[in-house]
Amino acid sequence: MLSETVLITGASRGIGSATALLFAENGYNVIINYNKSEKNAENILNEIKKYNPSAIKYRADVSDKKQVNNMFDECLKKFGKIDVLINNAGIAQTKVFTDITEQDWDNMINTDLKGTFLCSQAAVKSMIENKKGKIINISSIWGITGGSCEVHYSAAKAGVIGFTKALAKELGPSGINVNSIAPGVIKTDMMSCYTDDDLKELTEETAVLRLGNPDDIAQTALFLASKNADFITGQIISPNGGFVI
Ligand code: NAP
Repeated sequence: MLSETVLITGASRGIGSATALLFAENGYNVIINYNKSEKNAENILNEIKKYNPSAIKYRADVSDKKQVNNMFDECLKKFGKIDVLINNAGIAQTKVFTDITEQDWDNMINTDLKGTFLCSQAAVKSMIENKKGKIINISSIWGITGGSCEVHYSAAKAGVIGFTKALAKELGPSGINVNSIAPGVIKTDMMSCYTDDDLKELTEETAVLRLGNPDDIAQTALFLASKNADFITGQIISPNGGFVI
């Protein structure tokens, strides 16, 4: 068995699946977490197994404490430790502020913010024992700048940034680095609510005149997980093609 293990939440699609593939190509044992997209998770697992046959997939809703704790217990039994946790699972929703229901708010906060809390809490026990670990939380540029008609999403993602900074201070002495990636606009299913005209406009707002690919974010995560990033903690890195400078 190879030495380093990564658990990536929301790895059945988009940024998470690209990240799972890149980490597998770079020799990590990969745990693919997913919730609803069983078939996609199966497909990405089969792809990853070409690089590392020990990869597994595990279904758990990151907003459910029992499911999260069961997932970490099982994975720790199988791999002995989790070296890298990537809190990537997320949902988005575009709605004018006055239309956001209490249910919309709770769904958003429970998935995008509470999920990061539950998974991090479950992962750090073994990281503290090993005096080693990397936690990478996927936020968003909207968590930095705020996004119109995405108040609940922006609030959850800003919460992820505060969470990252505070936890980095608390866990630094235990040898654990906590950082956040705040992507710009990345071409995934999450962008399916935008029309071609919207996407053209968003593209023109970037300095590099293109939208991001899931691999742009995966490469940033791979760097943050590596030894080369051992002196980086509590930071928010925003690969956004110059959309926000
Ligand atoms: P995506 O293609 O819609 O994929 C979302 C992933 O999250 C799926 O694998 C989904 O799994 C998983 N997920 C959702 N709710 C979950 C839950 N309760 N428990 C476990 N997994 C859950 O989205 P993406 O664009 O790759 O986004 C990934 C992350 O990047 C998100 O946190 C998102 O907010 C952030 N981000 C994206 C962009 C962008 O432009 N795309 C920009 C900034 C930040 P199932 O399908 O299996 O349920």
